[in-house]
Amino acid sequence: AHLDRIAEIDDQLGAFLHVSGAEALVAAKAADDAIAAGEAPSPLAGVPIALKDVFTTVDAPTTCGSKILEGWVPPYDAAVTERLRAAGIPILGKTNMDEFAMGSSTENSAYQVTRNPWDTTKIPGGSGGGSAAALASYQAPLAIGTDTGGSIRQPAAVTATVGVKPTYGTVSRYGLVACASSLDQGGPCGRTVEDTALLHAVIAGHDHRDSTSIDAPVPDVVAAAKFGAEQDLSGVRIGVVTELGGEGYQAGVLDSFHAALAVLTDRGAEVVEVSCPHFTYALGAYYLILPSEVSSNLARFDAMRYGLRVGDDGTHSAEEVMALTREVGFGPEVKRRIMIGTYALSSGYYDAYYGQAQKVRTLIARDFAAAFSQVDVLVSPTTPTTAFAIGEKVDDPLAMYLFDLCTLPVNLAGVGAMSVPSGLSADDGMPVGLQIMAPALADDRLYRVGAAYE
Ligand code: GLN
Repeated sequence: AHLDRIAEIDDQLGAFLHVSGAEALVAAKAADDAIAAGEAPSPLAGVPIALKDVFTTVDAPTTCGSKILEGWVPPYDAAVTERLRAAGIPILGKTNMDEFAMGSSTENSAYQVTRNPWDTTKIPGGSGGGSAAALASYQAPLAIGTDTGGSIRQPAAVTATVGVKPTYGTVSRYGLVACASSLDQGGPCGRTVEDTALLHAVIAGHDHRDSTSIDAPVPDVVAAAKFGAEQDLSGVRIGVVTELGGEGYQAGVLDSFHAALAVLTDRGAEVVEVSCPHFTYALGAYYLILPSEVSSNLARFDAMRYGLRVGDDGTHSAEEVMALTREVGFGPEVKRRIMIGTYALSSGYYDAYYGQAQKVRTLIARDFAAAFSQVDVLVSPTTPTTAFAIGEKVDDPLAMYLFDLCTLPVNLAGVGAMSVPSGLSADDGMPVGLQIMAPALADDRLYRVGAAYE
């Protein structure tokens, strides 16, 4: 049914870069047989999924939305891919994304524009706009995203779906093509909090192949979602981050946020205001740390190892082939970030830029720690505005970066966060998201509060 839905509607939306119809049907049949034999490998066996095209898959190309990886079929599955297969979850295909996960609207994909199912003239968020659009248009009941600065939560917010960035280190990055390794984290997306929790339980857990993977038990997020569904938040303290609201936020977004606070209070939570003074510097720090890591990580695309190779005709040196390949293989945003990162890391500038940004990162983590000594979770709008028009910000990278104002501090500190649908804006009738943030390794709190609010 989901493959039929994709065939029916994806021409208009552009959510998928690759559809794995035959492979998905084989996996679905295997899941059916296991269920019939009373041996379902997980509660999600047979429930299909859309996978962001940044996770390696042995049976489908992995492009990361980049021309430099066009047609590349990886020799191994990512840890997340392995876990999905082991749980009997058929993979419907690979979803569109901003090139190497750099962007906020999916317009930086080298292949196609993805449209927001709520209004096809609007962006579906980014970088994981393909996964969010697939969910919101019922092409897939579950999806996987990655969140380096908001790429799971922000597309969830603008498509009225649920997206979770788990605590850093709790979902393996093995086989997740790196954008910025200290910030990247895979996570679950669904249309309800409980669906998302079931998927979270499948993909989270220790993996020795990822050196930053945390060897700690995964909290029982499914039980937390079920408990939350009882809508009793008595005894839960919720902090409203002073710095994430006010100027620069659309009136409809703020109205929805205040209505959400009233709902949370009504369900028994105690809502207080908490200041996180260094959050105002998160954008500046993020856009130094991320490009610095990008400039190092993307050095592996040297025209020898993967994908595209241009100028390999015997008349060019290896270095010229690399330069020619990168010239056409990388898009403008990727080049911009490689250059910013290389500059920020160069000798003489390292302390002034990269070193300074790392200090700000520590201050932001301390803000979170201080806040979580007073409250159980923090909340804010997920985005300052609803989805904007396709094309509106493509020539203005700074305006594009500002769309992630509320989501960036979470990645810098490594804590977990969720975006849960919070109604439609009175300004334009487009979806708004509520962001919930919890301390590291307490992702169950996201599900309890998210399910109680939903
Ligand atoms: N939009 C942010 C960026 O462009 C976040 C991207 C992400 O989370 N992958 O870097």
